[in-house]
Amino acid sequence: GSIMPTENNSKNSNADEDLKTYTPLSHPHGNAENILRFVNNNKISVNNEQLQKLFNHPEVRDRKIVVFSIIGAYRKGKSFFLDYCLRFLYAHYQSVNNPNNPLTDPSNWIGPENEQLKGFSWRSGPACETKGIVMWNDVFLHTSEISDEKFAIVVMDTQGLFDNETSPTENSRIFALGTLISSVQVLNLTGVVQEDQLQYLQFATEFARLSAAVGSNMKPFQNLMFLIRDWVYPDHHDFGIKGGEEYLQTFLEIKKDQKPELRSVRKFIHNSFENIGCALLPHPGSTVAGGKRQSRKYDGNWGEMDEEFKKEIEKLIDHLLKPDNLIPKRMNGKDLTSSEFLAYIDQYFKLFQS
Ligand code: GDP
Ligand code: MG
Repeated sequence: GSIMPTENNSKNSNADEDLKTYTPLSHPHGNAENILRFVNNNKISVNNEQLQKLFNHPEVRDRKIVVFSIIGAYRKGKSFFLDYCLRFLYAHYQSVNNPNNPLTDPSNWIGPENEQLKGFSWRSGPACETKGIVMWNDVFLHTSEISDEKFAIVVMDTQGLFDNETSPTENSRIFALGTLISSVQVLNLTGVVQEDQLQYLQFATEFARLSAAVGSNMKPFQNLMFLIRDWVYPDHHDFGIKGGEEYLQTFLEIKKDQKPELRSVRKFIHNSFENIGCALLPHPGSTVAGGKRQSRKYDGNWGEMDEEFKKEIEKLIDHLLKPDNLIPKRMNGKDLTSSEFLAYIDQYFKLFQS
């Protein structure tokens, strides 16, 4: 059905302008498709048909492949954040399902303030979520003006990790798979980075590293981005990428007087990713964060976010998804095309099925 912005837009004097340049994210754009889920006894079930449709699509298969992925505990705003990423992507890039995009005014990608948030389902309780990996079934296309290289961008979400029912093995398997099949891995954390989270990251990455079977002197994975939600120390480190980089230095620093195990975790993380970044986001405000006040259904619009949060997600997404930062998947130093990548995914899934 149509979800065009309704007439109450007219309270806003720019509403007509907005409508001209903004197409809400509605049905024809795409859907989240489950591509991998956990069935019982640590077995995984893979949706090969969907993988073929995505990565072997004639418009996609020969392009360099960028897989933008988010991972972390459930109910921490991952899908919510990704849905704003989709808004950016639709406003900036053409896509397979929507060859007439992008919009004429990408600088207004966030759209009208009362626009309902669509995309990957967010806020749904853990009970009705599938555990596993989902991908947006519309693929974004970009041709570099400088190098003339063609890129395809796939957006990936992970579901149901670190809930009470998921075993540590399942968690690290999904985590490892997510790392293997992404080129930009956003690790979504709340509060501050803790030592056990770094150990966990090492554990899952080791798992992935073994499966990737790359040369031992190569960094097997591309970008890792720590995304810290509900940051409450802006007087120590500012919100955003710059404050995040400073904070990252403090927790990933390798020091001489550190315990050997703490040092080895840090070395391992540095040796596994070509690029490591961090961003700090403020608390979004009580309407977004929910709790008792969320009984009146909040639909994800940005009008009800704390202004600072809105400003920061806008800046962060502008940074993460701009053409310069579209990092394709690399294997042993070579950028992969989508169809080459699909062959790798296939192997990994077989490994993990055994
Ligand atoms: P996911 O399970 O990690 O994908 O989480 P969802 O995206 O489904 O969001 C879970 C809940 O967190 C929703 O009620 C969101 O409104 C809320 N939320 C979204 N972003 C944030 C944030 O940055 N901080 C907090 N505290 N809550 C958020
Ligand atoms: Mg989710």
